[in-house]
Amino acid sequence: MSFVPAVVPSSKKTEPAWWFVFRDDKLLVELTGEAATIPCAIDLESLHLRPVRKQYLGTLNGRRCYSAELAPDDSTPEGMTFRGLRQLFGRLDENLFSVAGRAVQIMNWDQTHQYCGRCGSSTEPKPNERAKVCPQCGLINFPRISPAVIVAVLKGDRILLTHARRFRPRLYSVIAGFVEPGETLEECVRREIKEEVGIEVKNIRYFGSQSWPFPNSLMLAFTADYASGKITIDKTEIIDAGWFQANNLPSIPDKISISRCLLDWFVETHQ
Ligand SMILES: [Zn+2]
Repeated sequence: MSFVPAVVPSSKKTEPAWWFVFRDDKLLVELTGEAATIPCAIDLESLHLRPVRKQYLGTLNGRRCYSAELAPDDSTPEGMTFRGLRQLFGRLDENLFSVAGRAVQIMNWDQTHQYCGRCGSSTEPKPNERAKVCPQCGLINFPRISPAVIVAVLKGDRILLTHARRFRPRLYSVIAGFVEPGETLEECVRREIKEEVGIEVKNIRYFGSQSWPFPNSLMLAFTADYASGKITIDKTEIIDAGWFQANNLPSIPDKISISRCLLDWFVETHQ
């Protein structure tokens, strides 16, 4: 994908742009059977929409992209509908889906940072930067991204999977958790595993990352090897945990997530 982020549009406004329009965090799309697409227009007036706020995102293959926020009681343009982002995975073009993930986060950040968190004054956009500055006290706010680790723990030919209380019935996945302030990623990996299942790991290796806009996470995936200890589940977050072989996996997460990438990698390399 050639998405180039920017804060100020450089190309001509006479060309149509992609509009990522949200109402209550749901994206405005046009559906044709199973396939969904994003409105492409010169401006929102031509779609009879009057957003509360709009944000320039950058260009996708040279075409301008904007996010926009509608009032909760705004009507839906004829022939279009609002859908949650997760529902659009696999139905929207991959590049547009990826930009939609940026769009919802920037739209939400703009909405929730209209006032300074320190002195309460109205904030202003910082010129040429994705940031808001308080003209009274100088506080600068950047879009917030919350890093989280996700870890495949291996023991020989088996992988550690847990069933968390928040999961749908019978779904098992790898361990995940948010990074705490002051913590390194490796410390976070060790802590989360220790807290959730009571074991120690070694050989922590980076696997890959994924932006996870539900609502504003950055998933950092790792693999690790079992070192010592017996599985002891914490019972508050985790209901069950165990070691599984590649040919005997329980119900696992959908294709959308990096946890599934970790599991697909495990199956490919441990069959
Ligand atoms: Zn302030």
